[in-house]
Amino acid sequence: MSFRFTALNSLFEREDVKFEGPAKIKAIFNENVFTLETAREYLNEDAYKNLIASVKGGKKIDRTVANQIANGLKAWAESKGVTHFSHWFQPLSGITAEKHDSFFTIKSDGTAIEEFDGAALVQQEPDASSFPNGGLRTTFEARGYTAWDSSSPAFIMEIGQGKTLCIPTIFIAYTGESLDYKAPLLKALDVLNKSAVDVCNYFDRNITKVSATLGWEQEYFIIDETLAFARPDITQCGRTVFGALSAKGQQLEDHYFGSIPDRIYTFMRDFETEAYKLGIPLRTRHNEVAPGQYECAPMFEEVSIAVDHNTLLMDVMERVANRHQLKVLFHEKPFAGINGSGKHNNWSLCTDTGVNLLAPGKTPKTNLMFLTFFVNAIKAVNDYADLLRASIASAGNDYRLGANEAPPAIISVFIGENLTKVLEDVEKRVGDKFDEQDEAILKLDIHKNIPELLLDNTDRNRTSPFAFTGNKFEFRAVGSSANCANAMTILNTIMSETLKQFKTEVDGLIEKDEKKEIAILQVLQKYIKESKKVLFEGDGYSEAWHHEAAKRGLPNVPKTPLALDAMVTDKAKKMFENNNVFTHSELEARHEIELEKYIKKIQIEARVMGDLVLNHIIPIAIQYQNELLTNINGLKAIGLPETSYTAQLEILNKVSNHLQHVYTNVDELVKARKIANKIEDTRTKAIAYDSQVKEMYFDKLRYHVDKLEQLVGNNNWTLPKYRELLFHK
Ligand code: ADP
Ligand code: MG
Repeated sequence: MSFRFTALNSLFEREDVKFEGPAKIKAIFNENVFTLETAREYLNEDAYKNLIASVKGGKKIDRTVANQIANGLKAWAESKGVTHFSHWFQPLSGITAEKHDSFFTIKSDGTAIEEFDGAALVQQEPDASSFPNGGLRTTFEARGYTAWDSSSPAFIMEIGQGKTLCIPTIFIAYTGESLDYKAPLLKALDVLNKSAVDVCNYFDRNITKVSATLGWEQEYFIIDETLAFARPDITQCGRTVFGALSAKGQQLEDHYFGSIPDRIYTFMRDFETEAYKLGIPLRTRHNEVAPGQYECAPMFEEVSIAVDHNTLLMDVMERVANRHQLKVLFHEKPFAGINGSGKHNNWSLCTDTGVNLLAPGKTPKTNLMFLTFFVNAIKAVNDYADLLRASIASAGNDYRLGANEAPPAIISVFIGENLTKVLEDVEKRVGDKFDEQDEAILKLDIHKNIPELLLDNTDRNRTSPFAFTGNKFEFRAVGSSANCANAMTILNTIMSETLKQFKTEVDGLIEKDEKKEIAILQVLQKYIKESKKVLFEGDGYSEAWHHEAAKRGLPNVPKTPLALDAMVTDKAKKMFENNNVFTHSELEARHEIELEKYIKKIQIEARVMGDLVLNHIIPIAIQYQNELLTNINGLKAIGLPETSYTAQLEILNKVSNHLQHVYTNVDELVKARKIANKIEDTRTKAIAYDSQVKEMYFDKLRYHVDKLEQLVGNNNWTLPKYRELLFHK
């Protein structure tokens, strides 16, 4: 019996995993986090104050204090049965990394003790050579270290019976370059804070800090683990490279917001409970459009914490799924023919006075502040659309972007009818001087329109990669498997750059004796004119938009190897340098790493296709041919006329035909891959993998394999079918 049928049988024998959730979420929330309240309990006054100063203001912590904090952390962790600690970081390989060390050590005199000192808290040296570095470190100096990021609280990760104290860290080379997602993100948030406070101070001198906020929405698929094991493509690529669509896909639209199947519901409550213990404030869970697809979302938080929580949650979900014999697929396009998954990044800016800078205000003055940040955000997206596109570029996302289910690779901004009108009002006063009394400003009675504005957030903005949704922008094109740090680093840096430029221009006018509000409006008017081409309210999925966007000169780069070019243009290099986020060599390195990731992903998919064809598909087809032949020969032998086996002959013919195509395509695919492998230059190689390997063969091959799946006997087919993967729970 093939693995497919063993796996299907196991579904009937499997007992549901029981899960007893907490009575109240409040009782377990943050249970495994070293929050400031916990810190107060475990640290002395001095250490506590230093920790707060470090969390809030980025103050450096000296060695003595680090020792005290480490002691407190260890005492807390031990009270919870923790034996090991780990520096936890987010390397560019796209998953989280941990290296566990025990508190337990043996001193030189032979005494065994449990120890965790300041040095171990502040810095560690993982074997960095096996993480991607894009040539930043040559092998002989392949050294990097993880450094404590005190702005993110330590937490305890429970794996099975084991518990580990995790210290959030950034990962940097000895030469100072960042090697992870987190270090540049923190830099971007820091510079954005400065640029935004400067602009805020035009309106309110009391504002001393601006934080970017992020509320992500994570889409994912969940399938039976045993069935997944029977699909080499799922276990190795996270997606199906072959598979005929089942008769029922998502056409009935009966999955979206439908009731959640029991087994999945238990899994959700289980991972949510783990998430709450880790302080991840999950709010929503629901079915998504495709069968087997779901979504979860937390309350929004400051960006860096939200990023940690997202990567942590992905990790937790995979582990908890394991307990339920389920498999989570975060891939952007696990199944052809039905929707893929994204990770919407809701983004806004919040002041330390509690004002959401992207929420329209109630008074003319706050309205102008809103308008300032709103227009600057649009201008940032307009000026650096190519960079935003690059920030979400990945092999997985290429399968999704623009596939009539996800925003296209053209970056545009949706703002709704009312705000479009407001911007037109400001823009129309061409040449006209803004007059303070006549209150261009007062007339911007944006607040009145809010209810309508929210109502406006219906279907059309779903097709927009960057949509304003009332009090935040929603960057919808981020891939479901991505670390959102990448998109957030770029978004916040381009915002910072734009605000800096804005301030320079406004100050310039003020120096020429223009009134502040008038100066601001004039620059805003200029920005609206310069960036209105990026505004689009129509259907982003439509063919017409592709033409229109081309006419407007908006970049449309659907393929990752080329989309990544934007990271290393002179313009990008200057911009990142100006904001202290990336040096030129860091950008070059990241560009290289992303290209390499792309190549490897496509390479693995191509190999898996080859394996599947040679080891599964062709043997299956031959087996079925033989069955048909035996049958035909038997019928012939007893003297029946050809008319009694024409159907068999026809099927035999079709199977043979597809089999030949499958074989030739795989053969050519392997040759194309070998040629691509010889290319030295990474970018050229990535382009070759895209155009000569993927584009040339993937779909063609799939077409014939899927035809075979539909032709050969169900019992012959060894790979779990879509209907089983998607509907059997
Ligand atoms: P919906 O879009 O489903 O109507 P909401 O508007 O409440 O629901 O929010 C959708 C997502 O946007 C949630 O994940 C939420 O955390 C996030 N969000 C809401 N406000 C903000 C904000 N100011 N900054 C960042 N994210 C936000
Ligand atoms: Mg949303």
